[in-house]
Amino acid sequence: MCGIVGYTGKGPAVELVVRGLEKLEYRGYDSAGVAFLLGGKLRVVRAVGRVEDLRRKLPPEAAAATSAIGHTRWATHGRPSELNAHPHSDGAGNFAVVHNGIIENYARLREDLQRQGCVFTSETDTEVAAHLISRLHEACGDLPRAVERAIGMIEGTFAFAVLSTHYPGRLAATRRGSPLVAGFGQGEMLVASDALPILPTTHDVYYLKDDQVLDVEPGGARLKGEAVAPSDHIHWSAEEAERGGYEHFMLKEIHEQPAALRKLASKLIEDPGAPGDPGGFPRFRLDEMRVTAEDLRKATRVVVVAQGTSYHAGLIARNMIERTARLPVQVEYGSDFRYRDPIVDPGVLVLGISQSGETADTLGAVRLAKERGCRTVSVLNVQGSTMARESDGCVPMHVGPEIGVASTKAFTGQIAALYVLAIHLGVVRGVLTAPEARRRVDDLLQVPQRIDEALAQAAHVREIALKYKDAEHALYLGRGTGFPLALEGALKLKEVSYIHAEGIDAAEMKHGPIALIDEKMPVFVLALQGRRYEKIVSNIQEVKARGGRVIAIASHDDREIAARVDDVIRVHDDRGIMNSIVCSIPLQLIAYHIAVGLGRDVDKPRNLAKSVTVE
Ligand code: GLU
Repeated sequence: MCGIVGYTGKGPAVELVVRGLEKLEYRGYDSAGVAFLLGGKLRVVRAVGRVEDLRRKLPPEAAAATSAIGHTRWATHGRPSELNAHPHSDGAGNFAVVHNGIIENYARLREDLQRQGCVFTSETDTEVAAHLISRLHEACGDLPRAVERAIGMIEGTFAFAVLSTHYPGRLAATRRGSPLVAGFGQGEMLVASDALPILPTTHDVYYLKDDQVLDVEPGGARLKGEAVAPSDHIHWSAEEAERGGYEHFMLKEIHEQPAALRKLASKLIEDPGAPGDPGGFPRFRLDEMRVTAEDLRKATRVVVVAQGTSYHAGLIARNMIERTARLPVQVEYGSDFRYRDPIVDPGVLVLGISQSGETADTLGAVRLAKERGCRTVSVLNVQGSTMARESDGCVPMHVGPEIGVASTKAFTGQIAALYVLAIHLGVVRGVLTAPEARRRVDDLLQVPQRIDEALAQAAHVREIALKYKDAEHALYLGRGTGFPLALEGALKLKEVSYIHAEGIDAAEMKHGPIALIDEKMPVFVLALQGRRYEKIVSNIQEVKARGGRVIAIASHDDREIAARVDDVIRVHDDRGIMNSIVCSIPLQLIAYHIAVGLGRDVDKPRNLAKSVTVE
């Protein structure tokens, strides 16, 4: 959450930092600020609201600065206000600090520092770090060492960037738990919370590891005095992270799904298997998974740990893996799993799902699983992220950067990547025959086309969405994999439109929620044909009998449904689990168009952050 950018070089540092902050806006925040050095003095400018509000407050002379740090804040300690916005400084104005995360022992540190005479001007935990670094610097006279000592005293999660009047042209950067990456330009260096602000300058980066303190100068960076070389080359282009003519990132990302899933398939599937060859199994490119076939064969159970949208993908994965690999699957919130003393042993395969690979709750669960000797595999979109590094292996989704806070292409990418994994498990464990495995791969390869067809109806979906935009509440119902989709549809609507919505297993309606139905209640029902279709139709009738308004997501060839419901959105139904991806498209479009219809800030919904790095 929040964003950090730092720059040192020959260029206009403040402008470059502010532009970088704009690239991080998608992460969600409530205030922003920059600090820069001018004539040997530290200047700090902060504003509540958007980066554009900060921009308006910048004095013209800021253009002359060649080193700066900046921040977008997602308040955890103290309300969003100018005084609480970062950067924070020590009393003498010699050190400025930006911080992402939470200093858990800040209250005790603050009391100690106050006793030593420090005067605090904000309610944040962060200000402690500015005073602490300044104090420790008095004793040791060295910036990286002072920062190193400070983090030795700090408990919690953080990424810090520090600027000091004593070190013009230098920055210190460090992290524990929160992400931070350094970019190596020609005579200029950047640090940032993710690679997007760095991409316009360079693709050569170094991902900081926990507790490393990077000493950054225009010509390069050092760790404990040793020069550091870039560790990764980013393959995303800067353009991939732009809006490209769409009104919102969310809409762009919804429309990118066919291409994103084609790319995913081309990266993860080496050979779909020859149809004429009865023994020809599909072959996958899962080298980064780093779990041996033997371990997969011996696995006794799969535990999925995830949060939010990724959790919903995990629920769908349960059906896939149970069906294709006959392995029992348990799906858990990482946030609960990690604190529950869960019963796992080395025979358990733990799958962590996270778009960013930085989700603190999921990361904590993966770490615990590793401690308990489980094999851990992360399914994620950001290579080089903390989860990618800390798990035994990973399955990258390759869907390109997702900027919209409400996840769309990363969700369908997760489902597709998990399906590849499920088929692989089924093959390795001897559950699937070659033709069965190939049929599943074919279903996956067919999906981009089906998404294209679903997107072709975007105008129709928009019309329907707008009919329901003034609802105060909405329900989403489904059975089987329709249930996680109902949860996801409701979450999407909540996130971007702020309408209260709930996803419910349709079978559960009669156990309570049906009491909510009245003529004002729109009920979106996942009603594709299949084993549970008759049951869903009965649920629809129960809702209609109580005056509810039903919008059905139905099979292209369902002739009866239209007479039973108020509105129908049709998707091409291939009668397989890949329908879950296809059905996601109208759910995403409904949420998007309702939110736009209500004038919401779709890409930056209130109170939310993209990469949830706090617990
Ligand atoms: N805990 C800090 C604060 O509340 C930093 C929050 C953030 O990550 O933006 O100011």
